[in-house]
Amino acid sequence: MSVFEHVEFDGHEQVVFCHDPASGLKAIIAIHNTNRGPALGGCRMWPYASDEDALTDALRLARGMTYKSALAGLDYGGGKSVIIGDPKRDKSEALFRAMGRYVETLGGRYTVAEDVGISVPDVEVMAKETRHVAGVSAGGVGDPSPATAYGVYMGIKAAAKHRLGAEKLSGLRVAVQGVGHVGYYLCRRLAAEGAELLVADIAQDSLDRVVKEFGAHVVAPEAIATAAVDIYAPCALGATVNDETLPALQAKIVAGSANNQLAEARHGEALRQRGILYAPDYVINAGGVIIISHEGPNYDESRAFAHVAQIHDTLLEIFRRADAMKVATSLAADRLAEERFRGAAAKATEAA
Ligand code: NAD
Repeated sequence: MSVFEHVEFDGHEQVVFCHDPASGLKAIIAIHNTNRGPALGGCRMWPYASDEDALTDALRLARGMTYKSALAGLDYGGGKSVIIGDPKRDKSEALFRAMGRYVETLGGRYTVAEDVGISVPDVEVMAKETRHVAGVSAGGVGDPSPATAYGVYMGIKAAAKHRLGAEKLSGLRVAVQGVGHVGYYLCRRLAAEGAELLVADIAQDSLDRVVKEFGAHVVAPEAIATAAVDIYAPCALGATVNDETLPALQAKIVAGSANNQLAEARHGEALRQRGILYAPDYVINAGGVIIISHEGPNYDESRAFAHVAQIHDTLLEIFRRADAMKVATSLAADRLAEERFRGAAAKATEAA
């Protein structure tokens, strides 16, 4: 298995393979780019079928964080780590302490946070061995979902302005797929502005809550993506824009919190061809990482949320560029991110 020849290798600065026989830790830390600052990214724990799969995930996710941080205007680069193991069976104090020690060896080049399979208490154990952690409850900002939902709401407003010429969301129909942490807070903001809500979830109690509190209409999970709405907001799973759903989409806008909404990159162009405006997922769902970047003893909630609100203008810039270049918004977002993190390198060289 070659790292440099790997299909997901994209000039990553550093890839660390970690093995601690005493605790059974096997992990990979990937640092993609630190031009804008130290790498920030979550740690994922997953029972990968092979080491190769774990490497693929680490490289891909680390690169994604570089782009996300650059467009969120953070002074952070991109990194990510993966622990090979089953989060239901293989967690232990020794394992997370060993992981913390590996993070510490990087001397701050990588800051670890939670991700799939890793919760706040796990990161708190790592914090016993390293200062380079984010998103922990002591001195941290807690649940990032309200901030993520606020960013998605601001992104939906930008998309409605650009695609529908609408300054307000009142009277617009929005399909929210998944009313869990982010979906719930998003529904609250949309309802407050007078949007009509269609919702789907596989958890009845989550549905009951948004029906009761916001008067949302329930739709079957398999029908929500293609419902007759103005805006489709995927807030559950990834890859819901795919060959099956795309021809049947009735929304004019796709804008939600889910990661990796496009099943394949080519679906960005397919949305454009159909006249559907797509708010690239990693831009619109950056509220959580933005809020985490503000945490610390001087945390100022209004300043942090004002930063999240900038997602609105970033998306407008991406939409305008995509129109001018006649390319998919997903491609325009990537190009803008690249300008921002490569530009950071150029500025650093000039200053030296
Ligand atoms: P969550 O688990 O709290 O909510 C997801 C909801 O989707 C749950 O209520 C679940 O029952 C529902 N769901 C699962 N399968 C479904 C299906 N087939 N149809 C309809 N609903 C279904 O997760 P969350 O924290 O709200 O995150 C939602 C999405 O946003 C995820 O893709 C996540 O990766 C992404 N995201 C979240 C944050 C954050 O701050 N929480 C930040 C960035 C991205």
